[in-house]
Amino acid sequence: MTKSQNITWHDSEVTKTERQAQNGHKSVVLWFTGLSGSGKSTISVALEKALFERRIHAYRLDGDNIRHGLNNNLGFSPEDRKENIRRIGEVSKLLADAGLITLTAFISPYREDRDRVREILEDGEFIEVYAKASVETCEQRDPKQLYKKARAGEIKNFTGIDAPYEAPEHAEIVVDTETTSVEEAVQQILNYLEDKQII
Ligand code: ADP
Repeated sequence: MTKSQNITWHDSEVTKTERQAQNGHKSVVLWFTGLSGSGKSTISVALEKALFERRIHAYRLDGDNIRHGLNNNLGFSPEDRKENIRRIGEVSKLLADAGLITLTAFISPYREDRDRVREILEDGEFIEVYAKASVETCEQRDPKQLYKKARAGEIKNFTGIDAPYEAPEHAEIVVDTETTSVEEAVQQILNYLEDKQII
């Protein structure tokens, strides 16, 4: 909801289409979703590098990083998670307007919250990438020792343990990280972007 009144939208004299033409690629949002430890950060970091090496303007928004700054007033209750995703969605929209390919790496457990981001973006701009791995696998990996803490009751509302994860039903890209290496995952997503003539 907009609290302020008397605010108007000012258009730039440079359009999104012109920016995309100058960059030589389209601007989309690659929205990674999946359990903690499913591989969102690892794959998105590798993909950002691969895109950069191809001279593509890409920028990654990472869950923990955003919670250090922009969203440092938000926790992990359903309301705060919703607001977290809403803000990231709005930032992604601005970055798409700026002509960038944005990679977001957030658990984003609620389907409704992800769908809302899809709705504020143009058709084809929101590309949902499901990093698929079972809770068991993620718990075995436990790169940040968070599952251990959640099991010990030191972290509450932990997705997959005592908070739900709603898997995407129509993700544009599904990366099964139990059977796909990081390099293969990057290639899979690059292929998608090429097929759709985004890059
Ligand atoms: P998330 O960002 O989803 O919380 P991370 O990328 O931080 O997940 O952690 C994933 C962990 O799983 C890392 O330690 C990574 O090295 C490991 N891993 C093992 N196989 C894969 C794979 N195929 N894809 C991505 N990560 C993998």
